[in-house]
Amino acid sequence: MAKAISYAAHDPKSPLAPFSFERREVGNTDVQIEILFCGVCHSDLHQVRDEWANSTFPLVPGHEIVGRVTQVGSNVKHFKVGDLAGVGCMVDSCGTCPDCAEGLEQYCNHSVFTYNSPDKHMPGQATYGGYSNQIVVDERFTLKISDKLDLAATAPLLCAGITTYSPLRHWKVGPGQKVGIVGLGGLGHMGVKFAKAFGAHTVLFTTSANKVEDAKRLGADEVVISKDSEQMQQHLQSFDFILNTVAAPHNLDQFMALLKRDGSMCLVGVPDSPHPSPNIANLIFKRRQLAGSLIGGIRETQEMLDFCAEHNITSDVELIAIQDINTAFDRMLKSDVKYRFVIDIASLKQAA
Ligand code: NAP
Ligand code: ZN
Repeated sequence: MAKAISYAAHDPKSPLAPFSFERREVGNTDVQIEILFCGVCHSDLHQVRDEWANSTFPLVPGHEIVGRVTQVGSNVKHFKVGDLAGVGCMVDSCGTCPDCAEGLEQYCNHSVFTYNSPDKHMPGQATYGGYSNQIVVDERFTLKISDKLDLAATAPLLCAGITTYSPLRHWKVGPGQKVGIVGLGGLGHMGVKFAKAFGAHTVLFTTSANKVEDAKRLGADEVVISKDSEQMQQHLQSFDFILNTVAAPHNLDQFMALLKRDGSMCLVGVPDSPHPSPNIANLIFKRRQLAGSLIGGIRETQEMLDFCAEHNITSDVELIAIQDINTAFDRMLKSDVKYRFVIDIASLKQAA
């Protein structure tokens, strides 16, 4: 076993602090990765503060992991020492259920998340994520990372990227469609980039008037301030699809009313308390659908990473030292991030 250094939450109220623990031995099908960068997802904040009431402490967050392979098990076929590699939100699943068979491991009833899941290799311990210097992962859950893209800006693709790519593909977003993205944060800004890259007329909904110019630079054809009911009225019944990335409870009806007949709104945000109940008449009278989506499978995550390498798509990031993580969480809560914090894991050495 190898010692890992990290930053961990020890309870829902205290700031993250240095923490060391053991990673498992590198098994036959495992890849050991020296972590170089890790993105900061709002899900990290939800779980650090136990907002989903399922956190186990100590909790080492981080599921937007990129780094370099330092060791491989004897049966590893697709990675060698020195390769770039990535790890997203999952590190295991049953491998045999219909969801796994279809490459949709995220929907497997036995999927193991990268952190805050029971770790079958380390009984009594939870899985520990990427706010740490190394990780050991089965190669089935390890992603190939292109050396063509900026590595720090690639990290957020492992969660923010796939969580927006997957529903946009599932609902077949493309040319001739009008598509809305709600919220310009980590997920939302990737949603704008993908919807635009897929050829849709892309409209960004934001509560932050100071993000309008940025949204256009990122690819939005139009930007709507969602608090402005006049602006919202102009878009009634005009959208084919809306991807809603908002991290807080809010009124869904104002967006449902913007869908055409048979339009769909997909929620990916997971607020700590429920949204106000939607008005069912909004669904019935136009046969609209309200749906949800969870990250994406491993096969689709690799497809998304390859798409990004081909189309030169990365996240817009602000690089931080691990010592700044608590301030970064506070800023994220105020929507003050353009548009993803990424931890430079080199800073961890100084912290340990
Ligand atoms: P983020 O960077 O904090 O972005 C969320 C955005 O939502 C903010 O930038 C803000 O955009 C908007 N917003 C925040 N509070 C709001 C409010 N009260 N009313 C309206 N809009 C508000 O968060 P993220 O990392 O993108 O994550 C977003 C959500 O997705 C989180 O709940 C996270 O846990 C969840 N998530 C889900 C999955 C999945 O698989 N389904 C995967 C990853 C994350 P504006 O300033 O533009 O309004
Ligand atoms: Zn995430």
